[in-house]
Amino acid sequence: SFRSRLSLAQTARRDRTAMSYDAVVIGGGSGGSAFAKRAAGGSAPPVATSYGAKVALVEQGPQWQPNKRRSGAGPGGTCVNVGCVPKKLMFMAAAHREMMIGEAATAKGYGFTVPEGAGKIDWKGLKERRDKYVAKLNTNYTAGWKKEGFASFTDAQTVSVQLESTRQCNDGTTRVLKGQHILVACGGLPSEPDIPGVEHAINSDGFFELEEQPKKVAVVGAGYIAVEMAGILHALGSETHLFFRGDTVLRRGFDPFIVQTLMEASGLGSNTIKVGGKQDDGRLTYVATEGPMGEEAILKDFDCILLAIGRKPVSDRLGLQNTGVELNKSGHIVVDAFENTNVPGIYAIGDVTSTGYELTPVAIAAGRRLADRLFLKEGRARIAYELIATVVFSHPPIGCIGLTEPQAKAEFGEENIKVKQSRFASMLYAFNDDDKKVKTALKLVLKLPEERIVGLHCIGPSSDEMMQGFAVAVRMGATRADFEASVAIHPTIAEEFVTFG
Ligand code: FAD
Ligand code: NDP
Repeated sequence: SFRSRLSLAQTARRDRTAMSYDAVVIGGGSGGSAFAKRAAGGSAPPVATSYGAKVALVEQGPQWQPNKRRSGAGPGGTCVNVGCVPKKLMFMAAAHREMMIGEAATAKGYGFTVPEGAGKIDWKGLKERRDKYVAKLNTNYTAGWKKEGFASFTDAQTVSVQLESTRQCNDGTTRVLKGQHILVACGGLPSEPDIPGVEHAINSDGFFELEEQPKKVAVVGAGYIAVEMAGILHALGSETHLFFRGDTVLRRGFDPFIVQTLMEASGLGSNTIKVGGKQDDGRLTYVATEGPMGEEAILKDFDCILLAIGRKPVSDRLGLQNTGVELNKSGHIVVDAFENTNVPGIYAIGDVTSTGYELTPVAIAAGRRLADRLFLKEGRARIAYELIATVVFSHPPIGCIGLTEPQAKAEFGEENIKVKQSRFASMLYAFNDDDKKVKTALKLVLKLPEERIVGLHCIGPSSDEMMQGFAVAVRMGATRADFEASVAIHPTIAEEFVTFG
């Protein structure tokens, strides 16, 4: 069964004799677990299959730094513990408050009484319930596990596992695993800039450890995490300052029309950080230099500085030097389109790879396809990295798939690209004053002459939920004529995509 096959401690003898497996997986996160389940068995995915391979999966569990700062994930990986899941719960908490008393709150307009003091959040209680929810999800992953362990390569076919000594077994011994196939799916960790005072700041892992809601918080960064966490904190009532270098957030891979709409909706400013330091009263000072502010600015009285400036792969402690596996400059494992590294029999998926995608569904799909290829002998099975939809859970959320307008023009030539776009306030804000209506923006990037949709972008209420269906259509090669032929669903925001004149 899946359980017994994945149960390292049950099957391993308590000595250094190597145990042989069809596959050894390093990392029990999104990608590693998906691969192991598909390869070994267990909760069968909808489309079939589990191949009965003998698989050992090694997961180290959450790591703690000496100052009790969390560093890393645990059963289920980043997504379940310090990523998508707890983040989405916070996003939904924020959405409740936004509707009640946010700048563009809609509840009053629809006739609800919003009493004085409404929107006060029981942060501690929410954290407790969120932690419980995550702990329950952890058990879906740990069902067949006995203990956790840290894996590293001793050579290209052999993985040594240091077992976690504090759990069910106190022997703290090492196991040696041989794998016909070895999959590295060990993910990443938040990057920390080399700046004075960095120890006073938290990262996204630390965000989920906050026991109290910060009153005044500086969020530093310009990517998904900075935008999402700043949005959540702001919507939950923390005084939130977002600091980023450059003119806008989300500078890479997002259409300028959508980013501009986000900047206007959230009133984001801009400048860059250099130093964070502790004041005598224990609160934090933040020194911003460069950027549009133009001069050094000292900002005081923060009770939290949250750094979200990207993530780094955890490839450095894996003993990869014993295998000859190639890393790129940023430490990502170089893989080809089939997740092969340069060393036969060693594969990598997910955040640790050079694919450039750090998304849970990408790691899962890559893991499943790889299991199909290795054990079903579907020689060409692989995830197609072209046209992967993504959502930023900003306020309002952003959804997109395919090329931005500038990317499409660069790829196909300006004369071969046509754009359809519109910006409007959705009916949700019917009863708000004009300056209190959040804008929705939608854009289609069309390749001529057939008007094939090569990019679809949106920002506004429900953009997160509407993307999945559109992603299917775009992947199938839909044209604007296909969209029009589908006939609108009225009244919705999404209907605009099929009714562009
Ligand atoms: P992980 O899920 O990180 O799993 C790697 C596992 O390997 C970890 O559990 C780690 O403990 C273990 N490990 C590492 N080294 C070893 C070792 N030597 N031995 C044993 N075990 C080891 N993606 C989305 O699609 N949607 C979202 O909304 C979203 N939100 C996010 C929000 C935040 C704050 C963050 C940080 C990420 C978010 N992501 C989101 C990204 C997503 O979480 C990752 O892309 C995904 O988890 C990557 O999966 P993975 O399998 O590559 O790695
Ligand atoms: P991102 O790679 O998205 O963005 C990091 C940004 O931080 C950079 O683009 C850069 O922006 C800025 N930056 C880098 N260094 C510095 C610095 N020293 N000072 C100030 N700013 C700096 O990283 P995140 O950490 O936000 O997220 C990591 C990944 O996790 C994402 O890429 C995404 O794939 C995944 N994720 C997905 C989510 C989702 O699906 N909804 C949610 C959260 C994370 P610039 O160059 O413009 O200055």
